[in-house]
Amino acid sequence: MTIAIIGGGAAGFFLAINLKRLAPNIDVTIFEKSAKVLTKVAISGGGRCNLTNSFAEIKKLNQAYPRGDKLLKRAFRLFDHRDTYKWFEDAGVPLVTQDDQCVFPYSQDSNQIVVTFIKLARELGISVKTLHRLTSITSGERYTLTFNADTRCTFDAVAITTGGSPKAEGLSYLEALGHKIILPVPSLFTFNIPSDSIRELMGVVAENAMVSLEGTNLKASGALLITHWGMSGPVILKLSSYGARLINEKQYRFNILVSWINEVNCDKIAEYINSIVRENPQKKVANVCPYNITSRLWLHILKKAEIPTDRKWVDLGKRAINKIINLLSNDQYTVHGKGSFKDEFVTCGGVSLECIEFNTMESKNCPNLYFAGEILDIDAITGGFNLQAAWTTAYVAAVAISQPLINK
Ligand SMILES: Cc1cc2nc3c(=O)[nH]c(=O)nc-3n(C[C@H](O)[C@H](O)[C@H](O)COP(=O)(O)OP(=O)(O)OC[C@H]3O[C@@H](n4cnc5c(N)ncnc54)[C@H](O)[C@@H]3O)c2cc1C
Repeated sequence: MTIAIIGGGAAGFFLAINLKRLAPNIDVTIFEKSAKVLTKVAISGGGRCNLTNSFAEIKKLNQAYPRGDKLLKRAFRLFDHRDTYKWFEDAGVPLVTQDDQCVFPYSQDSNQIVVTFIKLARELGISVKTLHRLTSITSGERYTLTFNADTRCTFDAVAITTGGSPKAEGLSYLEALGHKIILPVPSLFTFNIPSDSIRELMGVVAENAMVSLEGTNLKASGALLITHWGMSGPVILKLSSYGARLINEKQYRFNILVSWINEVNCDKIAEYINSIVRENPQKKVANVCPYNITSRLWLHILKKAEIPTDRKWVDLGKRAINKIINLLSNDQYTVHGKGSFKDEFVTCGGVSLECIEFNTMESKNCPNLYFAGEILDIDAITGGFNLQAAWTTAYVAAVAISQPLINK
């Protein structure tokens, strides 16, 4: 049996290596369009490669995977984050789990993953052909693949692992084979908030914020970083992932509501503020920051509420207190555009999961055609979850290809 794996990235190499280990007689060739393989793995996680997560803080899978949670729930039964951990350590890459539950190579060097994959591929006899861009694919008794619009080869099976395609046209050859394509849109971006004084607080972090998309039930919690262009940090990236499609439909113009203190219950906040008034009646408002928010952020809120910084807590009227409560819990900003998050960026959309057999990653339309990785309509928040999806879908495909009788 011969198989062509299209795309020499995370999913392509993981699929090839596992397949060759499971079925050494299969002839496996990876075709990569560029001159180098595994380039995204090399730059992932800022060059450190956040290759999975402990999942300790994930209660429901759709918290981490806004798209693809159902497929992954099933696929994780075969290969989950614990299997990933063991796989890499067995391959000679010791790992470390950070306090934030992200898992990295102990060496803190993504190149170790690249070198390990290339070495394993060589040892297993996997052929790697760079500068081979798949330009068309036709199905018949076997698959006929055309590379660079001139070189033709035929294979018994094909696995497409070409990663996220920024444009739907990049996937038209798969649409021609009967696959539904979900419009690709960016995910994991920062929010531009031009001409708002909040940008003067560049560098300020609200450690425990909650941000929601106005008019929807989409919200996220976590640290918020104010930048010179607007807002970033885990909470913003998470919200950009949850709302990726909707925000795209709104052409990146929308309102957000920020609770700087991850609390929206006004009665609770009022109780807390009244306790500050009772305990610090003669202190100036500027000198007591509620909920331990930073002094710069507190001064910004006071300015927005038009409360003089030298006013004493006891002299705050009901109206001023209500303004404070509202700004702490429900501060509105208008986003005009997205920035980029260059440490980790993924595409939402791709080959619809409606066309995929969840147990095998095989196409429902084309027998012996498999998919793995970001080409599928699966993507995640930051934290190693995207690479985990690539490892899992690749592993499931490898098992299915190697054991067709069990899975079909
Ligand atoms: C800067 C950055 C940092 C990231 N950091 C992290 C991180 O730390 N943790 C995490 O979980 N996720 C991270 N991600 C996301 C993660 O890298 C991807 O989700 C993951 O690489 C997807 O794997 P893949 O194999 O599906 O695609 P890719 O790794 O993108 O590989 C696809 C390969 O296919 C090739 N290809 C494409 N089209 C063709 C064609 N027609 N013919 C032949 N070859 C083709 C491409 O050149 C590429 O080499 C990061 C992403 C970016 C951009």
